Amino acid sequence: MDLASVQSEIERVIVTEEELQNRLKEIARQIEADYKDQDLLLVGVLKGAVMVMADLSRHINRHVEMDWMAVSSYGSGTKSSGVVRILKDLDKDITGRNVLIVEDIVDTGLTLDWLKTNLNSRGAKSVEIMTVLRKPESALVKVDVKYVGFDIPKDFVIGYGLDFNEKYRNLPFIGVLAKHMYE
Ligand code: IMP
Repeated sequence: MDLASVQSEIERVIVTEEELQNRLKEIARQIEADYKDQDLLLVGVLKGAVMVMADLSRHINRHVEMDWMAVSSYGSGTKSSGVVRILKDLDKDITGRNVLIVEDIVDTGLTLDWLKTNLNSRGAKSVEIMTVLRKPESALVKVDVKYVGFDIPKDFVIGYGLDFNEKYRNLPFIGVLAKHMYE
């Protein structure tokens, strides 16, 4: 879906399609170097990470495996609580594997903090995180994120996998949702 189709629903574009793809290519080069000659399993967190998983994995010039998890954090409305429920678990055992969690956004950090601890407890050799976006001002816990696409302000953003009421995931860029859409 293009910008013209949602022009009145978006306050501003915060990361363009070109900026996103260029940054993902840079991160792909870093991943190739960091995991040189080592096994690598990309774990995407559904549903938001579908776009970044598809693009990042295709920029990586080596073999990778992919698996998926779906989690939901208990809490009221849009507030993350840190209590996480697994809706869909990994298909495969990760004992001894190098796991790279692929995420759309780190907001409070509570979800990823829980997920990283959970995957580490399964005996993975390493568990690292790649996220497209991070909101440093929203952090409630400090999560060590190895690869960050862009640090952004606290605004509610949509596009490139990120939704508002399940919509806008199919935008190829990231935008700030106009206030009149939810106020
Ligand atoms: P955290 O546990 O607060 O870091 O929450 C992370 C989850 O909250 C993400 O995986 C998103 O699903 C959701 N989220 C946080 N900020 C935004 C946003 O600006 N737009 C859309 N979803 C968001």
